[in-house]
Amino acid sequence: MIEIENVRKSFGPLEVLKGVSLAVQKGEVLSIIGGSGSGKSTLLMCINGLEPIQGGRILVDGTDVHAPGTDLNRLRRRIGIVFQQWNAFPHLTVLENVMLAPRKVLGKGRREAEEIAAKNLRHVGLGEKLSVYPSKLSGGQQQRMAIARALAMSPDYMLFDEVTSALDPQLVGEVLDTLRMLSDEGMTMILVTHEIRFARDVSDRVAFFHKGVIHEIGPAREVIGNPQMPETIDFLKSVL
Ligand code: ATP
Ligand code: MG
Repeated sequence: MIEIENVRKSFGPLEVLKGVSLAVQKGEVLSIIGGSGSGKSTLLMCINGLEPIQGGRILVDGTDVHAPGTDLNRLRRRIGIVFQQWNAFPHLTVLENVMLAPRKVLGKGRREAEEIAAKNLRHVGLGEKLSVYPSKLSGGQQQRMAIARALAMSPDYMLFDEVTSALDPQLVGEVLDTLRMLSDEGMTMILVTHEIRFARDVSDRVAFFHKGVIHEIGPAREVIGNPQMPETIDFLKSVL
């Protein structure tokens, strides 16, 4: 379970998160929607300790992410994160790229890392692409490789930050299908997304971010189909 309690986060004088509270249960899929600059990416960075916070706390299965003694490397092994774009190593094959983390971070031998990488690449539909170089993949395939790379660490949680927004429209579907598959398998996920219909169909709950707070949160169909706050209504009008 991820527990976010009254988190405050500033960049210099700019307060970006102004008291965000949220709990994500094991197996839950939560989507975060909201305007540009509302703090969505920042929250994901705070959850896996990539950014310090100035107030409140974040607990991942009871471990306080920002407490002085917390082993962040260990924590991050359990929280996979996939961004809009991931720069794979161009001189390594797809398989070798995905093997890196199991080898370097988990200390697996070559043989085992290869098996883990191949299994996860097959899982996202890239079983035919193991020995090609990343530049030969389509944008959608590259994003699925990034997802396989995160999955190769066997994380308990996955965070996705607008993983489809850099893609040509015709490539979005294959990546969303991969996310849907993970959701069906029971993966606990937080998705920052502009794909509102997808958020409605795949998430358990949707949180609408506005001016550094969660302005509205609830079951996906309610927040998207029947929003209560004027700001949510305006936002949805602007993106749907
Ligand atoms: P978008 O939908 O455009 O991705 P977002 O909701 O993800 O927006 P954030 O990236 O979390 O927004 O940014 C929130 C605010 O914090 C913005 O005003 C941004 O300019 C600022 N910000 C983000 N990262 C930094 C940083 N490293 N240093 C200074 N300011 C930052
Ligand atoms: Mg962002």
